[in-house]
Amino acid sequence: MNKSVFYKLSYGLYVITSGKEGKFNGQIANTVFQVTSEPPTLAVSINKLNFTHEHIRESRKFAVSILSEATPMTMIGQFGFKCGRDIKKFEGISVRTGKTGLPIVADHAVAFIEAEVVGDMDCGTHTIFLGQVVECDILDAAAEPMTYAYYHKVKGGKAPKTAPTYQKEEPPQPAAPAVKAARYTCSICGYIYDPEKGDPEGNIKPGIRFEDLPADWVCPVCGAEKDMFEQEA
Ligand code: FE
Repeated sequence: MNKSVFYKLSYGLYVITSGKEGKFNGQIANTVFQVTSEPPTLAVSINKLNFTHEHIRESRKFAVSILSEATPMTMIGQFGFKCGRDIKKFEGISVRTGKTGLPIVADHAVAFIEAEVVGDMDCGTHTIFLGQVVECDILDAAAEPMTYAYYHKVKGGKAPKTAPTYQKEEPPQPAAPAVKAARYTCSICGYIYDPEKGDPEGNIKPGIRFEDLPADWVCPVCGAEKDMFEQEA
């Protein structure tokens, strides 16, 4: 079985929010899809270990923000690689309250959808929640929604271990030039610092070796410090 085939499937990148009575959480998901149009129904696959899973199971509702290509990696990191049990997920994020009472992430969102859960399916590590759409609207008509391929290729993003599409080994990268500075991998989130690309969001220009990054530089995805990085083999 050639599991690299799974990388050929197309996805988007979304923030899923859920909760009730003032207690809410949000997480990144790439597996959101429309199931039927009449009535409009969505499915989302959520890892049972994720805090958002508990929230959806209890509140029976969720909201989806469709992220734009311009979404900074720091925001994806805040929702994708940090647990809502440990941090305030919505800190510094602009949020609006939806018809369902759920917080809808408005920053860098192309559009949002709110749904009420009408069914779920146990899939081992994950649950697929079916949600009937109760409200949806465009937030930024000019912005392009981010595809999962764009997230990986252009943003250098990785899948956390709880993602349905997580694979232990990333597919082989195209052949690299013979001599080049080493790449370093974040041991927390898997982000790779590539000297050829630098870190545009951290104002690090291409061509800066990892060794030469400022001591206070942190992982643009999860905020880990430099000593949490390992040189790529
Ligand atoms: Fe990291």
